[in-house]
Amino acid sequence: MGSGLCDSCFPRRAKAGRYRDEPVPDCPFCGIVAGKNPERVIFRTERLVAFPNIRPEAATHLLVVPAAHVRNTDVLGTDDLEMVEEMDRVGRELLAKTAPAGSELKLGYHVPPWRSIDHLHLHCMALPHSPPWAAIKYMLPGVWLSSADLAARLRRRRQRPSGLLQQEGGGGGGIGAEGGAAV
Ligand SMILES: [Zn+2]
Ligand SMILES: [Zn+2]
Repeated sequence: MGSGLCDSCFPRRAKAGRYRDEPVPDCPFCGIVAGKNPERVIFRTERLVAFPNIRPEAATHLLVVPAAHVRNTDVLGTDDLEMVEEMDRVGRELLAKTAPAGSELKLGYHVPPWRSIDHLHLHCMALPHSPPWAAIKYMLPGVWLSSADLAARLRRRRQRPSGLLQQEGGGGGGIGAEGGAAV
């Protein structure tokens, strides 16, 4: 990497792939899920795994990933709302255990193409950012999508009539396709 950016988030085009594929051989997060680097894992269930970001950009900087290779926010649909909510809940619980009490928390996702590892990962951070300018990567609309905003979008979609949902999905864009739109 050597870019100065975090190990999981550097702009690079996604490789073609399928949603919820079998473990992807060259995916570092599938590797961790499969048991590589067990010393890094701080939380594990059948559905989710969490570990510290190898190159932290906040006082505490954890990643929560689905055990399945879900590619990114673009492939998420209304059926994924519970997973997104669970990732958020686990992230907050882990931060409550590991970050100094009273820290300001920030949880969210980089949206395509603004991430380097195409395996969905929730950044769970207790601020401040380090270095301070790293904050930009975790706030820009169209690059960063907060966990709460993602869950809210999925909830709104679930409430829409199915016809509308199909229409909206016609362009092939997933939840991240709303990008920086003022929604
Ligand atoms: Zn990221
Ligand atoms: Zn993976």
